[in-house]
Amino acid sequence: MKITDIKIIQFKSHSCTKADHIGHQHPCMPRPSNVSLLAIETDAGVTGYHLSSEVIYNVKPGVVIPETAISQSLKDLPPVALQNTTNAAHNIILNKIRPVIVGENPFEREKIFHMLYKMQRSNNNAGLTDSILSRIDCALWDLFGRYCGLPVYQLMGGHRKQVSAYASTMVGDHFPGGLSSPEDYAAFAKQCVEEGYRAVKLHTWADDDWSGDHVIGHPDVDLDIACCKAVREAVGPDIELMVDCFHYYDRYDALKLGRALQDLDYLWYEEPMEEYNVEAYKWLKSKLDIMIIGPEVAKGKYWTRAEWMANHICDISRAGVGDMGGITPVLKTIHTCESFGVPLEIHGKGAASLHLMAAMMVPGRYYERGMLHPFLEYDALPPWLNTPVDQMDSQGYVAVPQLPGLGYDFNWDYINENRV
Ligand code: MG
Repeated sequence: MKITDIKIIQFKSHSCTKADHIGHQHPCMPRPSNVSLLAIETDAGVTGYHLSSEVIYNVKPGVVIPETAISQSLKDLPPVALQNTTNAAHNIILNKIRPVIVGENPFEREKIFHMLYKMQRSNNNAGLTDSILSRIDCALWDLFGRYCGLPVYQLMGGHRKQVSAYASTMVGDHFPGGLSSPEDYAAFAKQCVEEGYRAVKLHTWADDDWSGDHVIGHPDVDLDIACCKAVREAVGPDIELMVDCFHYYDRYDALKLGRALQDLDYLWYEEPMEEYNVEAYKWLKSKLDIMIIGPEVAKGKYWTRAEWMANHICDISRAGVGDMGGITPVLKTIHTCESFGVPLEIHGKGAASLHLMAAMMVPGRYYERGMLHPFLEYDALPPWLNTPVDQMDSQGYVAVPQLPGLGYDFNWDYINENRV
C-alpha cells in the first residue's frame, strides 16, 4: 500500500473561545471559525483522518460575555494574522510533508515519524512543529485502524474500555461569576462534581495582564492558595484535586504553594516553575511529599521525559499527543515509564488521548476533560460528528471510542455542505 495524497478539508463552525498572549483559552461570544480535517489517502482506497476540533463550545443560555471585561491580551488579533497562522501550518503540511511521504507505505509509521522528526532539526523547517507532526501521525494510526477494522487502542495493545475523567478548568480570568476569584472556582468545582466528575484540576491565574506599569508575569501565590483552599472546602475530602498554576514561580513561592497543597490533600502539583529548570525541580521535589507531575511543555519528546525520570525530578510523568508529535512518541513514553515504574498522565483531551490511556499498563488515572468554564457548555455534539468523542457518564467515566481507527463518526453531509 502507498500514500497517494494528503488533503486538508476545511469547513465552517463557530468558536466561543479566544486565546490570550500565552495561548490559554478563555470564553467569548460565538464568532465564525473553521475546522480542519486532514486526510491521508492511499492507493488501496483507505483514508486516515485527523480532526482539528472534536468538541464544540456553546455559551450557556442567558450568559453574555462582555468584550469590555476582557483583558488587554484578549483583544482580537487582526483577521489577516489569524488566517496566516492557519495557512502557515497547512502550507507546511502540503508543501514540505506531502512531497516526503507520498509514495511511502502508510503502515511504516516509525519510518515516517523519524523522517519528519529529522526534518525538524534544520532551521529551514522551523515551522515544522510537534503539533504538525502529531496531525500526520494520528491520521496514520487512524488509517491503520480503519484498514484493520479495529480501534487504535487494540492495535497498541488494549487494556481497558473506559477511563475516569477529571474536570480541567480554564485558566483564571477577570469575569465576575466566571473564574475571577476563589469563590468562583469553588462554585464551579462544586458544579462539576454535581455533573459526575470525581476529580477536578484547577488552572489558576497565569497573569495575562501585560499592560501599563504592571509587572509582567507577576505571580500571586497567596491567591492560588486561597483558591485551592476554597475549592477543597467546597467539594469535601472525597474528590481528588490537582492544580496547574502560574508556570513561572520561583522555587520559594513554588515551595510555599506546594506545602499548602499537601495540607489540603491535593493529588498532584503541575508546572509551578519553568520546566527546563531541572535544578529547581530537584530542589522542590526534595522538600515536598505531594506528587510532582511533568514535564508537559518542555520540548524533546520522550528523551526529555526519560531525563526527568532518570534525574528523579517527577513522581508522575506527562505526555501529550500534540506536545510530542503524535501517538507514536507518546506510546514510547508509556513504555519508558513502565521501565522506570513511574505513572504517566496524558495531557489534553481527544480521541488519541483516550486510545493511549486505554492501552497503558502504567497507571494513567485520569482523562483530562475540558477545558471547562462556567460560561460555556462542553457537551454539545459537534454538527460534523454523529457520535461524541468523549461523552462522560454520571459516574465520571468516559468510554473509549470503539469504531475502527480513532473512532470518528463523521457527518459528511454537514462537512460537505459547509466546506470553505
Ligand atoms: Mg498543564
